[in-house]
This record gives sequence, C-alpha cells and structure tokens, in this order.
Amino acid sequence: MPPRIILKPGKEKPLLARHPWVFSGAIARVENARAGETVDVCDATGRFLARGYYNPQSQIAARVWTFDDAPVDRDFLRARLERAIGARDPLIDRATTNAYRVVNAESDFLPGVIVDRYADFVVMQFLTLGVETRKMELVELVAELIAPRGIYERSDVDVREKEGLVSSVGVLYGETPPDLIEIRESGFRFGVDVKRGHKTGFYLDQRENRRQLAVSRQPSAVEILNVFSYTGGFAVYACAANKNARVVNLDASRDALNLARENMRLNDCDARGEFVEGDAFQILRRYRDQGKSFDAIILDPPKFVSAQAQLHSGLRGYKDINLLAFKLLKPGGTLVTFSCSGQVSAPLFQTVVFQAATDARRDAHIIAKLSQAPDHPILLAFPESEYLKGLVCRVD
Ligand code: SAH
Repeated sequence: MPPRIILKPGKEKPLLARHPWVFSGAIARVENARAGETVDVCDATGRFLARGYYNPQSQIAARVWTFDDAPVDRDFLRARLERAIGARDPLIDRATTNAYRVVNAESDFLPGVIVDRYADFVVMQFLTLGVETRKMELVELVAELIAPRGIYERSDVDVREKEGLVSSVGVLYGETPPDLIEIRESGFRFGVDVKRGHKTGFYLDQRENRRQLAVSRQPSAVEILNVFSYTGGFAVYACAANKNARVVNLDASRDALNLARENMRLNDCDARGEFVEGDAFQILRRYRDQGKSFDAIILDPPKFVSAQAQLHSGLRGYKDINLLAFKLLKPGGTLVTFSCSGQVSAPLFQTVVFQAATDARRDAHIIAKLSQAPDHPILLAFPESEYLKGLVCRVD
C-alpha cells in the first residue's frame, strides 16, 4: 500500500480548488506515511486528490507537490524548477537587474523552497521537512539549471521550528560567497551580505516599489525620511530620482546602516544621506517633539504580525508608526507606507492607515496602491502568497 492520507468528509474542497495545504485537523487517518515522505492525499471515499509531502509535527500536515497522479521524482523537480526559471524571463530586465527571486515556494509550485539569485551566486531556503529531505537533489538541479558560482543556504528562519527542524546555514555547492556580493538592481549598485543579512540578504520584493516610488515624481520631495531603511534600497532610488533629495535613513541595526552608507556611496549619493541608529518609534516621537518635518516619509517596517495572536498588538504598531509619520509630513507631503504581514489584509491595512490619519488630523488621498514584485508571484489559488501591501498617500 502506498503511503496515504485520508481526509474527513468535506475537507477535500480546498484541494479541489487547488489550494496546496492540508491542515492536520482535516485528516481522518494516515496510512503507512512517515514524516517527510511523499504521500497521496485522498478524499473520504479514497479517491486520489493530490500528491504531497507529509509532516505529522506541523499544523500544515501536508503540502501538495502536484494534483496529477504523477511521480515526484528528479525529473518532476527539474520540470518545476525550469518552469519557475522560465517564468522570470518576461519579469526581469536582465540588462539592469541581476538579483531576483527565482523560486517563491508554493506560488511557484515548489512548496517550502526559496531560491534567490544574487549576481553569480544563489541563496536557497528550505522551510519544511518535506523539502529538507530533498535538499541535495534540489541543490544539484539548481546548480545544473542556473550554473552559479556557488549556492549558499540561509535556512535560519523561525518557520522551520514548526516543522521540527533546526537552523541550517552554509555553503551547499561551489564557492563561498564574498562578504558582500555586488548586485545590480534597476541599474543601481548594491552590496548584499547574503551570509548575515536579513532574509536571504536583500528585500527583493520591494524592487518595483522602489522604482515606482511616488516621491520620485514629485519635484518638491527634498527632505525624505526613510524609516526602517535596512541597507538603503529606497534611499538610492530616491536620490537618483531627485537631484535635490536628502535622505535620513533610520534603522535599529548599525550593520544595516553601515551598508546603507556604502550603498549610497556606490551610487554617488552618500553626501546626501544621513544615518540614524535607533528605535523608530522613539525617534519619530522625538522628531515630533522637536517640530521636525519632511516632504516624504517611507515606512517599511518588519513584520509586526506573524501569528494571529499578535494581530492586535501588531495593528497598534502600524497605527502608531503611521500616526507619527502623518504628523511629521509637510503640507502636500507624501507617505509611502507598507505592511509585509500576511495576516493583515490590504483592506485592514488601509483602515489602520485611515485611523492614523484621522488621529493625526490630516486629510490624505491614496495616490497609489503597491504590492510585492512579480518575481514573488501571488497564486490565485493560494491567497496566503500575497503578503506585501503598500499605500502612497498625499496629505493636504
Ligand atoms: N526598506 C528596506 C527593508 C526594511 S526591513 C529595503 O527596502 O531594503 C525592516 C528593517 O527594520 C530592518 O532593517 C530592521 O533592522 C529594522 N527595524 C526593526 N525594528 C526596528 C525598530 N523598532 N526601529 C528601527 N528599525 C527597526
């Protein structure tokens, strides 16, 4: 008997709509399946629905590889990787950009697998037991299909704990990446620390938003406050868009700010940068008390909500930071505000920003709505793949 998961009656509906997750509560019984193995997922009558991988330790007890009755072998994985790589061709202008996400897990039909490209190097994350067990196969295939100088692993993410896995970091193939890899994004130069930086080193999901940055279209945006600046992505674009722009970069991480300065230098705009280390909430309050004001403020905070239990406190965080920002904007100024919390929907985020504006007694118009870059695709059947949302607001 092949390993099988039999669902409770009625629990097949999400899978019939091609949603790739099976929650543990949906399972009636498990036959012969061991942790990490490939299993068939069947409805209550025993009819085949999907083939996926199983982890009894996780609340997401199975993730779907395929809805077809086909083997999940090396050729299958190769075809999935080729499909994801090919899907980037129309999305990435390789003449100006050589850092982008090649595989975005579930939304590229490779659940639990992240593959990011940084110039000649690749960084991979294995988020689940099911792909941890296929790690070397996937690494060999990525090496074959992309031919990078090296593949580095950054599986140091909290979600692995929920899968019963510990962190894993280091070289998986080829050369060790240098401490800073120089990448090009939209023609700009950035140093990326793939070994110690956040995520796999750079916030690739903000590429298109940096490009479209509405502040860049306003000649009046001279004094810009880049809150949660990380390594200065938004600052470099803002300076290039406006010869008079000056950017205050604010972040809690000294390493990030040092690299922000270096990145501004690489793009000949460090003389127009200021670098302030500290807690954004405290510093924005201090600026308010000092009567400071800015033409544009960018708020790109870390994920304030990573579990439903944090929703209330997370929303407070978004409200506070946006309220302070509204108070610090000059008349006619622009707020570019983001949330990367998947649990906070776009309409909910908009409500919070609205409440912040109301409390700050500012009228504001939404002049653009922003999302994640298309190399972080949103799969219609998998709404969980949509996480980044942003609003560009013009205040009166
Ligand atoms: N906008 C950046 C990405 C921001 S990531 C880009 O485009 O690259 C979020 C950043 O917030 C991180 O650099 C982290 O160091 C910083 N951070 C987290 N909590 C903070 C706090 N309380 N005050 C200031 N910075 C904080």
